[in-house]
Amino acid sequence: MKTSPLISAIIVLFFISFFSCVNSKKEKQGENTTSEETETENQTRNDSIKRCATMDVLEKHLAKNSNLQAEMNAIEKHCRAFVAMKENGKTTIMDTIMIPTIIHVIYSNEAENISDAQIRSQIEVLNQDFTKTNADIDQVPEEFVALSADTKIHFDLDSIIRVSSTRTAWGTDDQMKFSSSGGSDVIDASQYLNIWVCNIGSGILGYAQFPGDSADTDGVVVSPQFFGTEGVVSAPFDQGRTTTHEVGHWLNLRHIWGDGNCSLDDFVDDTPISDGPNYGCPTYPTLRCNTNDITMNYMDYTDDACMYMFTEGQKNRMRAVFADDGPRESFVKKMNP
Ligand SMILES: [Zn+2]
Repeated sequence: MKTSPLISAIIVLFFISFFSCVNSKKEKQGENTTSEETETENQTRNDSIKRCATMDVLEKHLAKNSNLQAEMNAIEKHCRAFVAMKENGKTTIMDTIMIPTIIHVIYSNEAENISDAQIRSQIEVLNQDFTKTNADIDQVPEEFVALSADTKIHFDLDSIIRVSSTRTAWGTDDQMKFSSSGGSDVIDASQYLNIWVCNIGSGILGYAQFPGDSADTDGVVVSPQFFGTEGVVSAPFDQGRTTTHEVGHWLNLRHIWGDGNCSLDDFVDDTPISDGPNYGCPTYPTLRCNTNDITMNYMDYTDDACMYMFTEGQKNRMRAVFADDGPRESFVKKMNP
């Protein structure tokens, strides 16, 4: 029997309306989530967390700025010369380095307008982590104890700038660093570490800019729920280690796996070679590339409670940026004009 076009259309419409009813019923049922479903949702949320967007941002900046690669190569060369001189006992760099720090809080609601106490808790963590006075330093396994370093780099809270905005997520395009786009302008990057605390979005905890890049965007960005140890912080990234990690990048540190396979290095001799990030809280030892990973290093991707050391090699690399002709020597010159 031949079906007329009209009857065919009615049959199609019937099926469309039937299935849309089934779907809307499913959605309604979904409103009453069980605890099991909430757990699954939390898992999904954790899976969408991105610990650090620094290398993605670097890639974007390298594509935009044709001079950046050459500038970074020159800094690398300077750094290697500094480390070689240090090994020969020939460098003269001041002992304690003080970094005046400016916090830009950009908020679209009261929770994002974090308290002074939350900000101070982050400065305290920075000072502990960079001077090896963090309470969890005693958890470093025997294999790495001799490597753990007091960098003698200190952070001094200079000022807090608060900017209200209607924007709820800032992404990684540095818009938070310009008042013209509703953010807060950098304050003299040659004298201050600028940290922007704003909701980055897309599950990103933070990102930093390496030495050698533009002064207009120089500094670190961290989402408010991962900044400091009190207030609106969110576990397992509630111990201030996101900022420690990002300031590590700001001082020219790479991720401990060198962002590549076993043949790529982080340009630090005493961190074992690895081929990828570690997550959560790994049990020592974690074997990769035939050596035990230093998963408890601030430059890995583990949870805040499971990272608690820089190495001597990383210390030398960070201090090289403050040496004569280093990219951040102005911080030291200000103290000793
Ligand atoms: Zn990173």
